Amino acid sequence: MMDEIQVAVIGAGPTGSTAAEVAAGNAKVVLIDKKSEIGSPVQCGGFLPEPFELERLMPRARLPVTLIEIPERCILHRTRLQRIYSPSGKGKEFQVAGRVLDRRAFDRHLAGRAARAGVRVLPATRADLKDGILRLSGRFSGSLRPQIIIGADGPHSIVSRAMGNPVQELGLCLEYEMVGVKIDADAAEMYFSANYAPGGYAWIIPMGPDTANVGVGVRASYLSGRKLPDILDRFVSEHPVAAKKLACGEVLAVMRGLVPAGGSQGTIQKSNMLLAGDAAGHVMATSGGGIPLAMVAGRIAAEVAIRHFQDKMPLQEYPSRIREEFGIELSRSVQIRKIVDVSMKSDSLMNALFATLNTDQMKSVMRAEIPLLLKARERSDGDLFRTS
Ligand SMILES: Cc1cc2nc3c(=O)[nH]c(=O)nc-3n(C[C@H](O)[C@H](O)[C@H](O)COP(=O)(O)OP(=O)(O)OC[C@H]3O[C@@H](n4cnc5c(N)ncnc54)[C@H](O)[C@@H]3O)c2cc1C
Repeated sequence: MMDEIQVAVIGAGPTGSTAAEVAAGNAKVVLIDKKSEIGSPVQCGGFLPEPFELERLMPRARLPVTLIEIPERCILHRTRLQRIYSPSGKGKEFQVAGRVLDRRAFDRHLAGRAARAGVRVLPATRADLKDGILRLSGRFSGSLRPQIIIGADGPHSIVSRAMGNPVQELGLCLEYEMVGVKIDADAAEMYFSANYAPGGYAWIIPMGPDTANVGVGVRASYLSGRKLPDILDRFVSEHPVAAKKLACGEVLAVMRGLVPAGGSQGTIQKSNMLLAGDAAGHVMATSGGGIPLAMVAGRIAAEVAIRHFQDKMPLQEYPSRIREEFGIELSRSVQIRKIVDVSMKSDSLMNALFATLNTDQMKSVMRAEIPLLLKARERSDGDLFRTS
């Protein structure tokens, strides 16, 4: 069977499993992941807006059904609000209906769907790529020369490297699963502060009434010698607002991960290779949320592959298909992040930016609706965004 493989998907995260399931209807597909157990270890907060929020976030995108209809066993909790704290501890909140996923269960659910659709799934198998040949090692070994390779292999993608892309700009994340915390279980919270989350933000995502995913995502260039574990521990035990909720809790799990922070850079299609999801920088730069874009991109990559087999559609069509469905939102999110970056250097600038934006504008910023932010900027005294 391996000789007949038409599509090899590297990575069985949300991108890869979505791509594999969609492609399986019309091609012979293999799904390869180096993880011994698909979905584990978890490297995610699991926050996913409800479908009507996703439609607003990505109005041109065709959402895969697996992003809309998620089995209840994969949903740990639901939230109603998003609350954002300025460095001075002032909170602004707005309604965002969210699902908090059990990512381990969700990734296994998606990979299971792909398997049932006819995909050959190879866990505990590492892929290396050279001159169009995939070399597999681990539980399964050997080489493959598929007609199409979908790189869904996350931030350190070997497929991206084989295309000659530069290393992506990445955010470094560390997160705790905590129990016994005194949180507002209705609200997913983000905390901005140069002190407690340099160049990024800290978060509390409820996983239940007294459990939460508590994390911090920062950029290396803002760390100035500080260590990520120290930053997260300080947030948990000393932050003027968050510590009151968290200091009484216990850590049950520690998770690390990388988040692409610069949007889609470099090429996402070259010869028979297509890049999707984190591998392609398909992550909203304003929030670090990548699951929705990942699954839409996986679906598009598979559809382009199938059209290529059926109608000889050139694979070069792939980047424009991506742009049509969420290119505007992705590039706006990077533009907004760059504007906010200037303020992230100092808490007083960040406090001033918070004071400038009302709740509706704050919600628009999180949704990467840039015109409102620019209007706010025009109304500000002009010093707010000046770098020197
Ligand atoms: C700490 C943290 C918190 C986050 N929180 C959220 C959140 O709350 N909401 C949200 O929407 N997004 C969040 N994200 C982002 C989200 O997790 C990603 O955008 C999403 O997982 C992207 O899916 P993917 O399939 O592209 O990549 P991944 O989920 O990273 O999957 C890539 C897969 O490729 C495999 N792989 C890599 N290289 C190879 C190789 N050479 N051979 C074989 N297999 C390989 C890996 O084992 C992995 O399973 C978070 C990220 C981090 C790090």
